[in-house]
Amino acid sequence: MDELKDLYQEMVMDHNKNPRNFGELKNATHHTEGYNPLCGDHIHIHLNLDDKKVNEIKFTGDGCAISKASASLMTGIIKGKSKQESLRIFGLFHRLITGVVLSDDELKELGKLSVFQDLCNFPSRVKCAGLCWHTLNSALNNENKKVSTE
Ligand code: ZN
Repeated sequence: MDELKDLYQEMVMDHNKNPRNFGELKNATHHTEGYNPLCGDHIHIHLNLDDKKVNEIKFTGDGCAISKASASLMTGIIKGKSKQESLRIFGLFHRLITGVVLSDDELKELGKLSVFQDLCNFPSRVKCAGLCWHTLNSALNNENKKVSTE
């Protein structure tokens, strides 16, 4: 488990320092804003989505290292996925961080995101990591509204 902890810390530090897919999206078709008042994380998800897939996904905003790393990893895995696939991965990730034991195949599907599996022991941090996903979920469902974890 220590290996996982090291990997987790490395991953969070790396993605917090050099977030992938960070910035505005000029040709966005969907945009949603999410807020986690418990920690002060604030995120905007920008999507270019058509009938087939998420062509582009970017995020902006500010928050703690976990919220930024989670958004950075999320945008990497979601880009190019269909809406159905994206919602499925959201469901898996949500189960992972809330402490549901996943099968090896499910963990494989989550790839790098599986480093978050110890997070269920830190309930307040679950909201940090989950914020971008709830915001994405709302954007995918075409709800142009503000999302709050509270
Ligand atoms: Zn946070």
